[in-house]
Amino acid sequence: PVPQVAIVGRPNVGKSSLFNWLARRRLAIVDDHAGVTRDRMMTLIEHGERFFELVDTGGMGIVDDDDLTADVRRQIELAINAADVIVLVVDVQTGLMPLDEEVVERLRGIERPVILVCNKADQPHQDVQAEEFHKLGRGHMIQVSTTQNRHRDDLLDLIVDRL
Ligand code: GDP
Ligand code: MG
Repeated sequence: PVPQVAIVGRPNVGKSSLFNWLARRRLAIVDDHAGVTRDRMMTLIEHGERFFELVDTGGMGIVDDDDLTADVRRQIELAINAADVIVLVVDVQTGLMPLDEEVVERLRGIERPVILVCNKADQPHQDVQAEEFHKLGRGHMIQVSTTQNRHRDDLLDLIVDRL
């Protein structure tokens, strides 16, 4: 079976943008407004002759949990549980938020490799802003920008190394 890689993180950090950027196609809806992506997007990615299935789990139901049907919540759980690698996305421009810590809390007990993707590091000088995310204590960290196309190959290398 093809290994699965799940993208998780609080709303608006750029999960769907990351999904499209890695897929090199606009599959997932990118939105300026924080919210939950209800559709679980999946796509097959090849990198260095390795294949994996990338899954955009949406906002993990963190913002409006009450609105989420049990079905959607189960889908998110399944995606995380089925994942061989978890890509945890945060936003260097907003900095560390309580919801980021909540996401890490939800990943507690899930013993899969985690890659901590510090997105929106549009300029090289913003890479240092990612330092504060070290305190999340989870995952190998990498700074990227989906809009400025920074470090896409480095991220893909990190992912396939952990499959
Ligand atoms: P999601 O809710 O986590 O799926 O986030 P989206 O992918 O919908 O993106 C939320 C917002 O962040 C959108 O306005 C994106 O254009 C913006 N965004 C995503 N990636 C980047 C980036 O690398 N740099 C900047 N400056 N904005 C980004
Ligand atoms: Mg999204």
